[in-house]
Formats: sequence, structure tokens, C-alpha cells
Amino acid sequence: MCPDSASSGCLFLVATPIGNLGDLSPRASETISNCDLIACEDTRVSSKLLHHLKIRKNLVSYREENEKTKCIELAKQIEEGQKIALLSDAGYPCISDPGFRLVRECHKKGLRVIPIPGPNAALSALAVSGLPTHQFIYLGFLPKKSAQLKKVLEKWKEYDGSIVVYESKYKIDKTLLSVEEILGQDRYICLARELTKSHESILSGPVNEVAQKQLLMSGKGEFTLVIAPSGYSFA
Ligand code: SAM
Repeated sequence: MCPDSASSGCLFLVATPIGNLGDLSPRASETISNCDLIACEDTRVSSKLLHHLKIRKNLVSYREENEKTKCIELAKQIEEGQKIALLSDAGYPCISDPGFRLVRECHKKGLRVIPIPGPNAALSALAVSGLPTHQFIYLGFLPKKSAQLKKVLEKWKEYDGSIVVYESKYKIDKTLLSVEEILGQDRYICLARELTKSHESILSGPVNEVAQKQLLMSGKGEFTLVIAPSGYSFA
């Protein structure tokens, strides 16, 4: 049986575009259209997507601030037979976005959780980076405080695979300086900015060169950073 046609309640984890609306899969669109309720990080953001799809649906907010209590309520609704689609603002729910608690609650209750795969910034950046992909670690957002950030970089300095992190436009230049300082200026990185959007840029090379180019560009946008293992180069 196709899991999408499950007759009992279930939770769908629906990946949505990280920029380009054309990346929404037909299955994601069908799931959004057929579910009973949409739980989403920001109802204003998901309303725009629904408007684009010409779908009218009830939306409830499920975000970091209400996750602990809301996951119990939503799991109860699923237990009662509702099909709920979980959406984050962009990309895959649960990946540096709300969702984990609700998924855990469903598993605790023996409820079905069905992935509807699709866009994800970390994997898109890794794949396009030209840096090794056979082994990698995803660290989410790096710590905000300089001392903790440096501690994390020290910890993973000799890791055998690539390191993938999310970074904000406010911190990216400082983070690149820390990468240079702790991992060395010739460490290869890829700075993937605005993936799938009109100002997409993918800069791969030694961190000192990428940092120079980044300084010349507008500081705006969303960034994913991939760091190659020590000793790797395009040579
Ligand atoms: N759940 C999302 C996913 O699956 O990719 C990630 C959510 S996380 C809160 C948002 C971060 O992902 C941004 O701050 C940025 O670091 C990265 N990101 C999101 N969209 C991006 C894009 N189009 N290009 C590069 N990085 C992006």
C-alpha cells in the first residue's frame, strides 16, 4: 500500500523549497492538498506557499517557542485519525528546524511518520561544493560566541570527512576568519549562498581566497558553509 493513502492518522514531514518554488515536488503538493491540517513554523510563510499552490487549508503554528506543548496536542489529533503535514519555513522540517519533538511523540505512541523528501540546504551545498562527499558531518548552526565557536572548530579540526554548517549573514565574515585562524588559510571550503535563488553563488577554494571574494560581495543572503578535510585541494 502506498503510505500516502494510509487510512489512519499520520504525520507527514514535507520538505518545501529553499528558494525556488519549482523545487516543490508533486508528491509534496499532493500531500499538502490532501492532509487535514498543516502544522508550520510560521503561518505567514506557509500561507504564501499555499496561496501559490491555490490550496486552502487550516494552519496551526508549530515553532520552537510552543513545540513542547504543541507536540502533545498534535500527536493526540493524529491518534484520533487526523493526517497532519508538518512544514518548516524552508527545506526539510526537523533539520535545524522544529519537528523532532513531534516525531518522537508519534513514535512513542506508535503513530506513523511519513517522509516527503525534497529540498535541503545542507545536502545541496555539500553536493555542489566539489569537496569530499563520501563522509561528512552536519553541525547545524555554529555557536554564536567566539570562544565556543573556536572550541568546536578545534574539536573537528582533524575530522576525516567534510563539515557542513549553517551560518547567518551577520556572522559569516567572522566565522570565515575563525576557520582561517584555527584550520589554516589553505583549508578548502565552499561557501554556498542563496542556493536555488536568482543571486545564487557557490565559492569553492582555500578559505583565505573565498573570504576575500565574500568580502567584495553584498553581505545579504542565506549561507551554508562546507569545510573540507585537512590536506584536501583541487590539485
Ligand atoms: N530546514 C532547513 C533545510 O532543510 O535546509 C534549514 C533551516 S535553518 C533554520 C536555515 C539556514 O539554512 C539558513 O540560516 C542558512 O544557513 C541555510 N539556508 C537556507 N536556505 C538556504 C539557501 N537557499 N542557500 C544557502 N543556505 C541556505
